[in-house]
Amino acid sequence: MEQATSGPNPLCEVGRTHPRDRHRMKPVEGQSGVWECSRHDMLATIVDKERADALDRGDPFPMHDGREGVVVRHGDERGGGVLLYYRYEG
Ligand SMILES: [Zn+2]
Repeated sequence: MEQATSGPNPLCEVGRTHPRDRHRMKPVEGQSGVWECSRHDMLATIVDKERADALDRGDPFPMHDGREGVVVRHGDERGGGVLLYYRYEG
């Protein structure tokens, strides 16, 4: 999945919906294909389309560090998958 993780960092979910606050997320250190926005406590990763279709806003989504996360929304298609925005629960 080299193709999916290379390329520009994804736009923060907040920036996607608020054009005046566009900014990109940063790769999470030590994680391949995981990005974060520390300002908005938002993360993003790429999931395959089948998995993306099965996920809705608010669904549980396991974090890379073992904590519980929740789905925020789907993003653009990327590298044969779909960008998925999620955040820590609570
Ligand atoms: Zn942000």
